[in-house]
Amino acid sequence: MLKNRGLRVTILKLDPYLNVDPGTMSPLEHGEVFVTMDGSETDLDLGHYERFLNQDFTILSNVTAGQIYNELLDKERMGSEFLGETVQVVPHLVSAVARRIKKLGESEDADVVIVEVAARSATWRRRRLSRRCVGCETWRDAKTRFQYILTLVPLLKPTNELKTKPTQHSVRALRALGIQPDAILCRLNDPTDSEEEAESLKDKISLHCGVPRDAIIYLPTLGNVYAVPGWLEKQGLAEVIMDRLGFERRDPVVPPVWKALADKPNLANDGEVSIAIVGKYTSLQDSYLSVVEALRHAELNQGIRIDLEWTPSELIEENGADRYLSKAQGIVVPGGFDKRGTEGMIQTAQYAREREIPYLGLCLGLQMMIIEFARHVAGIEEADSTEFDAAASEPVIALMEEQKNVTEIGGTMRLGAYSCVLTPGTRAYEAYAMAKNGSEKHNGTFKINERHRHRFEYNNAYRDRLERLGLLSSGMNPELSLVEIAEISDHPFMLGSQFHPEFRSRPEQPHPLFDLFVRYARQFRPDGTQHQLFASAVSVGS
Ligand code: GLN
Repeated sequence: MLKNRGLRVTILKLDPYLNVDPGTMSPLEHGEVFVTMDGSETDLDLGHYERFLNQDFTILSNVTAGQIYNELLDKERMGSEFLGETVQVVPHLVSAVARRIKKLGESEDADVVIVEVAARSATWRRRRLSRRCVGCETWRDAKTRFQYILTLVPLLKPTNELKTKPTQHSVRALRALGIQPDAILCRLNDPTDSEEEAESLKDKISLHCGVPRDAIIYLPTLGNVYAVPGWLEKQGLAEVIMDRLGFERRDPVVPPVWKALADKPNLANDGEVSIAIVGKYTSLQDSYLSVVEALRHAELNQGIRIDLEWTPSELIEENGADRYLSKAQGIVVPGGFDKRGTEGMIQTAQYAREREIPYLGLCLGLQMMIIEFARHVAGIEEADSTEFDAAASEPVIALMEEQKNVTEIGGTMRLGAYSCVLTPGTRAYEAYAMAKNGSEKHNGTFKINERHRHRFEYNNAYRDRLERLGLLSSGMNPELSLVEIAEISDHPFMLGSQFHPEFRSRPEQPHPLFDLFVRYARQFRPDGTQHQLFASAVSVGS
């Protein structure tokens, strides 16, 4: 909303844990690790920020308590800054956090810094903040701060009553800490039948919480998360924020895609396609959050509905692929680590290849596709990854040269954006040519930039042999001659990327590989009757 009013906005997530970043945490513990262009491993909320603001962020946008303690303890040991002092939470730690907020605002020359602090969010008008903060460096003195909290207003079903007590108690608890919200966003889980009652509750909340009535805003569960900004816009939240931060009110310039999303809170339903996600962490769907969002972007772009089937790869190992995948029109094998469940992914790749089911492999999903092809097409029975068997006799997937001397686990993978040149005549080329964005064209070829997070790679020693049998290298890193995208030539769409395309997909720019994958999936008929190649229907620019 602020960006649509011409302000330069940046955003920061403060995380309370002592890990330096979430890169070393299990996705089952913490959800997906989001990777930015500069190669930082961050909280999955950074993914939401990038998708909603359609902006790239950096390491400066995710601060953890671990980073702050690290910084303070390093300085304490160096004796450079605090020599002779007692280093304490107040003022040292609090000031260090405030410095990070300012540093982000300055480095991005932002008008406004949005900061997520646990359950509440605050928005600062940056220029005044930096003046006011000199010396004291606490947040409270920033008069241009706007803070809101999000509370739940539950509906008691038997009496159809909305309860405001949890909101009142939350605000009371915050006030005890000296925090007075400027606005309250009330999450309604159920649409309420009596809008009048809900409106009258605003008076009650306003009175008990000391927040003006126009700054109390209901936020029901909408059919699609991308409809939320449009909803908040209609409720007048932007005016409340602009007034409080001292900006002149102005009309938003809403990009057409957001308007379309806001007008259509429930996904379009012009067709359905069933897509299976086969991975190790399917019990926590947040583990693959950006993958799901990238599929949603293709869904919104194509005006269809995707039904996601979550399938643990270990079950496929135990019971065979047919039991779980016989209805799938497309299969995604996302990223992951360690051996557990990987034989199930290899079986999945074989199932997709033999039945010509569109397949998209993301990082580990590419590696599994290559091992499967090596074993069953090239007859290299012992083909494996050295991640699973360090002494593999046929290391089709092997540790990257630059990783061989790495001893520390945290932040040491091949991380962030690397370039890749696409091979004309391949599906990968077709995908990026159709999308006409996110890539540069030179002399008839495309150079793309995508985000990585891995240690192992397709071993070049096997490339010629597999290529001759139809495993094409459709994207290459020009500096290191690494295969970044591979695909199977006599298959409608069986493609894997060593990078994670999901991190760059945005509602405004659905990722080309996801978008084309979904187009092929829509054409696939699991009963085998009407399966037709889609190539003629998907022409460049359609
Ligand atoms: N474990 C594999 C590697 O490190 C794949 C990583 C991933 O899927 N992100 O290369």
